[in-house]
Amino acid sequence: MLGQMMEQQLLISNIIDHAARYHGDTEIVSVNTDGSQHRTNYRQVHTRAKKLGSALEKRGLTRSDRVATIAWNNHRHFELYYGVSGAGFVCHTVNPRLFPEQLVYILTHAEDKIVFFDKTFVPIVAGVLDKVPHIKHWVLMEPRDEALAAEHEWMEFYEEFLEEGDDDYQWPQDLDERDASSLCYTSGTTGNPKGVLYSHRSTLLHAMMSATPDVMNFSARDCLLPVVPMFHVNAWGSPYAAALAGAKIVMPGPGLDGESLAKLFNQEKVTIAAGVPTIWAGLIQYLEASDTKLPHMQRTIIGGSACPPVMIDKFRDDYGVEVLHAWGMTEMSPLGSVNNLKNKQLDLAEEEQKEIRLNQGRPSFGMELAIFDEDFKQLPNDGVTQGDLHCRGPWVLSEYFLAEKGTTLKNGWFDTGDVATIDEDGFMTIKDRSKDIIKSGGEWISTVELENIAVGHPEVTAAAAIAAKHEKWDERPVILAVKAENSSLTEEDLINYYDGKIIKWQTPDKVIFVDELPIGATGKILKRELRLEYENVLMEK
Ligand code: AMP
Repeated sequence: MLGQMMEQQLLISNIIDHAARYHGDTEIVSVNTDGSQHRTNYRQVHTRAKKLGSALEKRGLTRSDRVATIAWNNHRHFELYYGVSGAGFVCHTVNPRLFPEQLVYILTHAEDKIVFFDKTFVPIVAGVLDKVPHIKHWVLMEPRDEALAAEHEWMEFYEEFLEEGDDDYQWPQDLDERDASSLCYTSGTTGNPKGVLYSHRSTLLHAMMSATPDVMNFSARDCLLPVVPMFHVNAWGSPYAAALAGAKIVMPGPGLDGESLAKLFNQEKVTIAAGVPTIWAGLIQYLEASDTKLPHMQRTIIGGSACPPVMIDKFRDDYGVEVLHAWGMTEMSPLGSVNNLKNKQLDLAEEEQKEIRLNQGRPSFGMELAIFDEDFKQLPNDGVTQGDLHCRGPWVLSEYFLAEKGTTLKNGWFDTGDVATIDEDGFMTIKDRSKDIIKSGGEWISTVELENIAVGHPEVTAAAAIAAKHEKWDERPVILAVKAENSSLTEEDLINYYDGKIIKWQTPDKVIFVDELPIGATGKILKRELRLEYENVLMEK
């Protein structure tokens, strides 16, 4: 017997319909590429997103055609999220920090039909244009600009493009919730980037779970500022989850430096933000130097790479901001786990609570995490045994986009490439990427732990631990560290700083001070580059 309830598809257009209907005047504030600010609301975004969907149809796009964006977090990008997917096309967010060859590869592989781009990226677009002749429409996300139009005859303008759409356009009624809605390529540090094709259903389920209290905890009382770019796993799904909750949203545009962010946080009374640790390091530096506080901010979601404990403490102790340490991947929409205490842990001493809060948290309903050994035997959740972290759930990919069938999963699990422990309560600790972990004399050393200690030193602003080749032990840890301005810290000082904080044999063999660390397209330290440069430093000795 079937249940007798209304059958409605879970569609991305439902989110913006709901937001317009019940939160119509809730603001969407956006910083333009030229630094000026733009204010709109859910009602206007809804109207314009539908008009955009209509304009795309009029250009001859058919169901599931890909529409690329190369853009900052701003109101037009937000409209594209809803207009493209709502009309049954696939919103393909492209990372502008990729190398031109990777950009060409992605635009070709995805067979994008139209590209929408911000002014900042005109040179990038002009540079790849000839190499992707299948793309017929290039739309600058601005009103018409006569100077640019004269310079680039191929360029179209968003506001004119939008005007081609009908005002009374209705979303297609025959969309299936399993239809593709958006596409994002992995950062691809090795080999070609791989595409992850999300569906309406996976996006909605992820958004609904994200808004719950133990995940991102969005409500209609919140004001969200996603620092994480909309091209990095759909800004972690936050433009969907926040709209679903009816939260105000502030889009920071290109200004991601500490000063611009701090001003925006305070001007718009932002209550929650999301971003990678490298961005927050810049913010904290600015806050300290300028003696600025964040009186409205309540919490910030930090993920993308391990959040150093010192950052969690600083946010809480100096700024009254709670850090939600989260872990996820492009392949999982991205949320896998978020750190929030359980009821039984509320009575623990502060130090014990603090210890729990350092890890990457536990999965929400809908996500299952497990660790396996190399023979694919499942390992215990005892908080000590480490293994290859796998996951499954309705917002985890089943295949990479256009990959050979059956090559992505193993026994129904997705291998994350991370090495982790999981305790009885489901709290998971990332030890490393399996490619980064240091194998010294048959034992493993976590680079995450070594880095957390190094950046805990008050005179170190950034650090990366890598495996360097070693004659006797195969691999030994080496630290690349960036010193604070005017610091006279020595290699010996930093090595001594590990005393008592880590098992003796895991202490790094060498510290090399560098001016800066290479940062990749999504704000992560490029360990592979560092390994190529420094892996022989202990052999040369
Ligand atoms: P991406 O798909 O680019 O978001 O990269 C996903 C990878 O980033 C994961 O497999 C992890 O290795 C790493 N990562 C994400 N969040 C965290 C975190 N909180 N702690 C440690 N590593 C993380």
